[in-house]
Amino acid sequence: MKNWKEIEQKMQTLDALQHAMNKILYDMETIAPSGAIPKIGKTLETLSGIYYYELVDNGLLALIEAEKEADYLEAISIDAIELDDLSREEKAAGTFFGTTIEWDMMKELKREIQKISKIPADSYRAFQELSIIGHAKWLEAKAANDFAIFAPTLKKIIAYKKQYIEYQGYDQHPYDALLDDYEPGLTVTELDIFFSGLREKIIPFLKKINASEKMQAITDKKIGEGFFLQAKQEEFMVFLAKYIGYDFNRGQLGISAHPFSQSFSNDDARITTRYVEHDIYSSIFSILHEFGHAIYEQNIAEKLTMTPLGSGISMGIHESQSRFYENMIGRSESFWNPIYPAIQAFFPDSFADVCLADFIASINLVEQSFIRVEADELTYPLHIMVRYEIEKKLFSDTLTVEQLPEAWNTLMMEYLGITPANVNEGILQDIHWSQGYFGYFPTYALGSAYSAQFFEAMKREVDVEKDARDGDFTAITSFLARNIHQFGKLKTPKELMIDTTGEAFNPDYYIDYLIEKYSTLFLNK
Ligand code: ZN
Repeated sequence: MKNWKEIEQKMQTLDALQHAMNKILYDMETIAPSGAIPKIGKTLETLSGIYYYELVDNGLLALIEAEKEADYLEAISIDAIELDDLSREEKAAGTFFGTTIEWDMMKELKREIQKISKIPADSYRAFQELSIIGHAKWLEAKAANDFAIFAPTLKKIIAYKKQYIEYQGYDQHPYDALLDDYEPGLTVTELDIFFSGLREKIIPFLKKINASEKMQAITDKKIGEGFFLQAKQEEFMVFLAKYIGYDFNRGQLGISAHPFSQSFSNDDARITTRYVEHDIYSSIFSILHEFGHAIYEQNIAEKLTMTPLGSGISMGIHESQSRFYENMIGRSESFWNPIYPAIQAFFPDSFADVCLADFIASINLVEQSFIRVEADELTYPLHIMVRYEIEKKLFSDTLTVEQLPEAWNTLMMEYLGITPANVNEGILQDIHWSQGYFGYFPTYALGSAYSAQFFEAMKREVDVEKDARDGDFTAITSFLARNIHQFGKLKTPKELMIDTTGEAFNPDYYIDYLIEKYSTLFLNK
């Protein structure tokens, strides 16, 4: 362990740089004046250059490679051969800290260094610039409702990503290399099985729901419409965030154009929302969603925070936590039962004459709509499937940028039965591709599916319905903290799934959950 002290110091430098960059990003998305953005961009570019240098070029890898696993094992007197089993058991019991944790931190650092150093430094920097141009061109194209404005830049971004895939390498499908950035180990083979199951079961079920008279009746009542003064909404959202258990001493609620969460340590996990004065549901479900992300980060073990292992393991697992609080908890009758009078008192014009059952149906309405971020729980994975099929084809060279708008419309028709009237409602709606985030979308659907399986496991230990009805989220949140949150990046998504639920990821939980939930809401008498 001769280098540990030095490695630890470098780790702290990297964390401090990361902290500074994330604070600047948070500031940029919330309160920075728009005129400041180009210069903030310059500062970020400089800092990311320093980060790259500290991570890749300042001798860290050599220090790590000179360390020997045996030294770390000896220090805790555990036989190397038994380590895998033992640490596994200990991990499951949550008593792993202080065993091989330093070794795990170095492994994670090494993985990151190797991944980034495969990209030549000039190519890495050039892409930073390309993604800023990509974002600007995307905004311009959206304003003009014209895909042709964005297409040439998108081509360059895709070309860079193809080069990136070559740098990283892959076993079976080139797209696997991109998936791995967001969900370590996830492959096209696994996703094809996942999405084909959804396609077979959800598309015909959606047709039944759309024909439901009960749903039509609720739609016609237009529940949730009205005017909701921002100041009043802000007051209600603070109440709601506190009610679900958000710790304002270690978090903050901000305002941004698109809701997000950002953590800097386990004592500083912030969330944002946006206020739409004709739509109260927008902010309610953003708060519950972002709370799920923030509570994950707040519950990460003290020993791991501000280290390479000190954040959520993957986008899919993160999204499983946000979707759990947003949908499984936040759209349930038992959650609203005790606080429905509160929302009625806050907004009597819209809710005083609406009964709880109708309110619950209204927050679960199913709609064949164009915009992913506004989609309901049932159609949401279909929106993701459209993007998945397109990305897969782009990176296996069976689809060109010119063909994108048409490919989009064809898939929308096939999965949702609707055709967008223009590119803003179609191919141009998401920011992701303009920043080079290919491989990201599938984790949204995967996270929802993970959450259904975690939910089933939780119900074997916790009386979720009763606790929610009592307004007591202690046992619910501590189940997640004990099994998932505390580990940060110490366990892989696959390990978390097996250790928490007793089996490997099984998408049937998700399909069954959706069908049961929506049948109860809209099909049963
Ligand atoms: Zn999310």
